[in-house]
Order: sequence, then structure tokens, then C-alpha cells
Amino acid sequence: MTEAKRTTFADRLFNFSPGPAVLPVEVIERIQAELPTLPGVGSSILEISHRSPAFDRILEETVAELRGLLGVGNDHEILFLQGGASLQFSMIPMNLLRGTGRSADFLLTGTWGATAIKEARKEGAVHVAWDGAATRYDRLPAVADVRLSDAPAYVYMTSNETIQGVQWQTDPDFGPAPLVCDASSDFLSRPVAIDRYGLFYACAQKNAGIAGVTVVVIRRDLLERCPDGLPTMLDYRTHATNGSRANTPPVFAIYVLGLVCNWVRERMGGLPGMARHNAAKAKLLYDVLDASDGFYAGHARADCRSTMNVTFRLPGEELEKEFVAGAARRGLVDLKGHRSVGGIRASIYNAMPMAGVEALRDYMIEFQSARQATAAAGRS
Ligand SMILES: *Cc1c(COP(=O)(O)O)cnc(C)c1O
Repeated sequence: MTEAKRTTFADRLFNFSPGPAVLPVEVIERIQAELPTLPGVGSSILEISHRSPAFDRILEETVAELRGLLGVGNDHEILFLQGGASLQFSMIPMNLLRGTGRSADFLLTGTWGATAIKEARKEGAVHVAWDGAATRYDRLPAVADVRLSDAPAYVYMTSNETIQGVQWQTDPDFGPAPLVCDASSDFLSRPVAIDRYGLFYACAQKNAGIAGVTVVVIRRDLLERCPDGLPTMLDYRTHATNGSRANTPPVFAIYVLGLVCNWVRERMGGLPGMARHNAAKAKLLYDVLDASDGFYAGHARADCRSTMNVTFRLPGEELEKEFVAGAARRGLVDLKGHRSVGGIRASIYNAMPMAGVEALRDYMIEFQSARQATAAAGRS
């Protein structure tokens, strides 16, 4: 191997990537400190058995941290699965829709919901209870505008549409059918009424760690509805029965998830503190949008704006390219929006520090003034 090139924390840029995304510096420092060997273990987390006492402890602590942060009681199991959030698009209908003769009711609020619907249709009937297509997924429904079917197997929602940047502002209540929520891009960003959900899930690599693990919080009574005959590893009961160790789990990803949970609790004031921090960061950027006289045109309607993914357009694609390139020169990277929405997307997850958002805000204000000064000079 060639000799390692040492890097330092001072070399880090402000990373606005939608995922995998920025991690807390404190978490990376801890990983770095413990990487040669876990304290008292003599081997690295990258090397130990998933059946070792050291990993027993990590798994237990990570479950306990999540239970504490989310307020998960005995009615729900917490599972650590693989296959990303995308595998849940299939596992949910396989376990909760197949053979029920009912429909899965979807609140279609953006790209991720649409992807989930495609998979659900392979397992059974789907009813779209609300569709935001008419306004290009820039808003969320009022609960009264949602038209559920008679007795849905479950109601499915996406708490934060990562690509469009629309986020439910509260935990909605749609009656007795189990509520299923994809919380991949705002997991652990704010308190959640977890008892309202039958199944609440998130991949870790947006807001809670690295790729490789997906957290599924599932109400125990739903486990009894899973049909027999599913492939063993796609049956939630397999993972519940085996404490998320039916096979080799993603050991390192679970370790990092545990560290992030610990950081949220000890450094950020738990989910209430995290929510205040996230609201303050998002406000800095939305205030710039609102004061820009339309130069920065937000995608999301004001009452559905995401605190995690701030999406907006500039007047023209050339200008957007210039904006992204200029930001990168200042060390503000990965700001290009998703191709389906275009424009700019600033992902400001839990671990994005206030200083990063302040730097972006300052850049936005300067970019607009410089542009408008050039335009004025061109006219005179
Ligand atoms: C990123 C994302 C997904 C897909 O996650 P994978 O782990 O890549 O499968 C699903 N839903 C939402 C809301 C996301 O943001």
C-alpha cells in the first residue's frame, strides 16, 4: 500500500450533501480515537464478532439511546435492518399488505413517496389518498383534504420529502389504521409522537449516521399480521425474534448510530434541543429567501418548509451553475438540487453546524447583491 496521507479536521469543508451527509465532528473524533481498538477490547469495531460481548453492549446501548430519545415504550420493537430505506418500500407491503384484501393508502407528497408506491403496487391494492402533483409537490395536505379508503391496511406518509424540501410540521392523525412513516431525512431532528405510528422508519445516512443500517420502529401487534411464507430475511418477525441479529448486522453502522444518538442526547439537548437548533438554522436561510424579492424562489410553500432540505431556484440555470461553483470556491459544497426539481438544495441536517449555515447565508446575500449590481451596471 502507498503511505497514508494524513488529513485533519481543519481540512473539512461545509458539506451540504443530501446523503450520505455530514456527521458531527465529535462523533468522527470519537471514531478516530477508538478505531485502533475499542477501549478494553483489543480489536477494532471493524473487526469484532457481531456475537461478541463488546457488540452486545453496543447494540443494547444503541437501542436504549433510541428508546430514550424517541420515547419508545414496550408497545414497539426497534429493529436494525439492511437494504436501506428502499428495501422498506418492499418489506412494508410484503408484511402488512399482502393477502389482506385491503388497500395501502398513500399520501403522495414527493419523489420518495412515489417510489414507495411503485413497490407497494406489486404486493396489493394502492389507493392514493392525496397527491401533490398538481402543484409540483410544493405543499402538504390539510388532514381534511385526505380521502382515505374504507378500511386501509395502513396509511403511508413521508415526514420529510428530501428532494422537494417539504416537511410535515406535526405528527398527523388519520384515525385507526396503522400509520407508516418514512422519516429517513428528518429522523432525530425533532420530538416525535411515536405512539401515533404503527411503523416508523429511517435509513441512517441522512441524519443519524452512515449508510448500512435502517432503523425500523414497529408496533408489536403489527408483527402478528405478517403473512407466513415470506423470505426469511424479509419477514419483520425474523428480525424481532433475533434481536436484529438473524444474520451479521452492519456492526460499524450500528456503532456510529449509537454515537450519533449519544451526541444528540448529551451535546444537543435531546430532540427538543435538536429541534430548536434546526429551526434556528433553517430560519437563517428562509429569511434570505423571503427578503430576496424573488431572486431566490423557494420551492416549498412557506407553511411546509423543511428544516432539513432547503430548496430554491435562481433566475436561470446559468446563474444556478454560477451559484454552485462560487459556493464551492468558498468551501460550501454539494449544493446542487436534485435533477427532478432543479435549482439549489441546501441539506442542513442535525450535524451541519450553525457556522456552516451562516457562511451559506452570507454567500447568498453577497451573490445576490453582486448579481444585481452587475445587472444594473449593464443597463446604465
Ligand atoms: C434517502 C431517502 C430514501 C432512500 O434511502 P436508501 O437508504 O438510499 O434506500 C428513502 N426515503 C427518503 C425520505 C430518503 O430521504
